[in-house]
Amino acid sequence: MTGTLLVTGASRGIGAAVARLGAAAGYTVCVNYRSGAAAAEAVVGEIENAGGRARAVQADVGCEEDVERLFATIDAELPPLSGLVNNAGVCGQVSRLEEASTETLRGVLDLNLLGLMWCCQAAVRRMARRYGGRGGAIVNLSSGAASIGSPGEYVWYAASKGAVDSLTLGLAKENAGEGIRVNAVAPGFVRTEIHAASGMPDRLEKVAPTMPIGRAAEPEEIAEAVLWLLSDKASYTTGAVLRVAGGR
Ligand code: NAP
Repeated sequence: MTGTLLVTGASRGIGAAVARLGAAAGYTVCVNYRSGAAAAEAVVGEIENAGGRARAVQADVGCEEDVERLFATIDAELPPLSGLVNNAGVCGQVSRLEEASTETLRGVLDLNLLGLMWCCQAAVRRMARRYGGRGGAIVNLSSGAASIGSPGEYVWYAASKGAVDSLTLGLAKENAGEGIRVNAVAPGFVRTEIHAASGMPDRLEKVAPTMPIGRAAEPEEIAEAVLWLLSDKASYTTGAVLRVAGGR
């Protein structure tokens, strides 16, 4: 695949796996990160060692000015944008809803929802035929939480992902005639650092055996679904939320 693939939050976890697979598929990959510069550069190094092309760009996707700078950097320094994976996301510290601070709620919504929408706006302005673009594909990282609700953990996070599902459907319809397909992947339970970051360091060990499939996913198992949705093999698929959740 040609052009630039922007993967937000690609310094580790699912985003890093998407970046590696995207580069192997032929994209020039923009490896976005917020604070993990060394980790992002390591992902770029791995891609380059494997013969691919990548560039790390720092930007807080929950900040509109940073999103504008991120896309301006791609415009100036990388091939035209042909794919966007809205992967950057946070859960906030685990609690019941009434115990969560406004700071937690805002932090999750600013990144998971507003940041994702700013990235979609910027990508559509570059890829839609009405703006002279050549089309492309967007894949949003939703979550199985959207249909479970995550009670006692982070219902605000589940709500943000439910909104991502609605946005995916609407944006897909809005841009079906513009050459842009928009889909989402809803992972169930993946072996990444997001669980410890939200205050549950032992969540992997606790939850993995309760999954119907009996284990957590590896990030690469989610990335494969993302890459399929980005590819021409999914040419008739738009507005879909693909659940990759081990049966949950
Ligand atoms: P992760 O391991 O915590 O990685 C998060 C990535 O996002 C990191 O690269 C981090 O970079 C980046 N990031 C965080 N805040 C950012 C910001 N404001 N701007 C730009 N980048 C930012 O997460 P993950 O588990 O791979 O999750 C990836 C996506 O999948 C998320 O949307 C998550 O909601 C979704 N998901 C995950 C699971 C799961 O079980 N892991 C399940 C369902 C859905 P820095 O370190 O540089 O900040």
